Amino acid sequence: MIKSFRVRLTVWYVGCFAVLFALLTAGLYGVLSRALTSRLDESLLSQAATASALFQDEMGETQNDPAKSAEEAVSNMRLRAGKVAVLDGARALSASGPFDAAAAVRLSGGAKESAYAIPGARAAVYRFNSNGRVYVAVAVEPLDAAIRRAMFLALPLILAIAGAGGYWFATRGMAPLDAMAAQARRITGSNLEARLQIGDAAEELTALAESFNELLGRLDQSFGNMRRFVADASHELRTPVAVIRGEADVTLAKERSAAEYKESLAIILDESRRLSRLVDDLLNLARADAGRVKLQAQEFYWNDLLGECCRSVQSLAVAREIELECRCAADTPFWGDEELLRRMTLNLLDNAIRYTPPGGKVLAELEADIEGVRVRISDTGIGIGPEAAAHVFERFFRADKARSRGNGGFGLGLAIVKWIAESHRGAVELASQPGAGSTFTVTLPR
Ligand code: ADP
Repeated sequence: MIKSFRVRLTVWYVGCFAVLFALLTAGLYGVLSRALTSRLDESLLSQAATASALFQDEMGETQNDPAKSAEEAVSNMRLRAGKVAVLDGARALSASGPFDAAAAVRLSGGAKESAYAIPGARAAVYRFNSNGRVYVAVAVEPLDAAIRRAMFLALPLILAIAGAGGYWFATRGMAPLDAMAAQARRITGSNLEARLQIGDAAEELTALAESFNELLGRLDQSFGNMRRFVADASHELRTPVAVIRGEADVTLAKERSAAEYKESLAIILDESRRLSRLVDDLLNLARADAGRVKLQAQEFYWNDLLGECCRSVQSLAVAREIELECRCAADTPFWGDEELLRRMTLNLLDNAIRYTPPGGKVLAELEADIEGVRVRISDTGIGIGPEAAAHVFERFFRADKARSRGNGGFGLGLAIVKWIAESHRGAVELASQPGAGSTFTVTLPR
């Protein structure tokens, strides 16, 4: 199997060309040779007749010397391509070249005047009487051997030219591919912003380059996201680790009372909890990215789940003097990963409470119809501006960094909400008025 596309293309091209050329030549040869043969036969017959007439004239002049007459007659013929001979029966009297005239005459089958085929040539005989003896004039001419030779010689020559031409065209046509390959080889993780340039190459190659460039674009974006994710994650991890280390350093610098140690350990415990929450979130998102999270789907009642979530954030709402209302009356059975959906709901409720000033209200509602379930968490809190709204579902995005960090957030909560909703083929939407509150609606199809 030939590996090189260029060579394969050339072989196909030359093969097709050879078949076409052979067919055309054979057809042309058939038509031409028929026409040529009949013209040749006419000319040979007239040559044989002329030779006989000349011979008979010479017989008169040479007092019936057949050998001399034959020689004169033959030499008067002055033939270029063919040969002519005069025979006395089967014996050649004279011939215009070295050829087996007797053999040629034998093939005539005894006809008085006829044109026929002999190996590689056409021949014509003319039998005549002179002084009571039967003489034979024979004219022979090679049958379009020149044409045949030209065709046989031309075939390899033409194929060689076609092959070289085909290879050249294939090489020329593939040049942009080589250029693309060379450019692609230079693209690595550190210059994914580079794109293939192929100038005004053929349409198909432009399409290939465009697809490749689009792929690079997507990779570049994913790589960028991943780099940002790693950078942001490291940045976020630094703060709790620094707090824990600083606290331990300071505490261990001198002898402390038991109460001081206790206070210190409490700070460390608090930061460790934050840290492990962050690590959990990161791990979940990383697993989700790798497509390794399998939904543990089962049937459950959404109204029960929402009720439980509201109860578990109730104390936080009370602590922040926020009224929390949960409207989920009717039984709403649903098929999905209950744990993940609980996590999603808690994230939304937690945000609603954290970003709502004391005295505000948080409402959790559940709507269901044949198509699916809608979970709506609205608050009367600080709201989100249109600019921030476009980014809230991105990882590590925080509209107000100082306030969010103070609240213990890392900017991963809504990214996780979005992932959970989408992993259930659903979506999450935000409607918000800065200063008036926000409403997050999760739509989940059945
Ligand atoms: P965080 O842990 O910082 O809360 P999230 O991903 O949950 O991270 O939220 C991203 C950002 O969206 C928050 O920092 C906050 O600015 C904004 N946000 C989220 N929920 C609300 C809300 N209910 N009201 C106002 N702003 C919100």
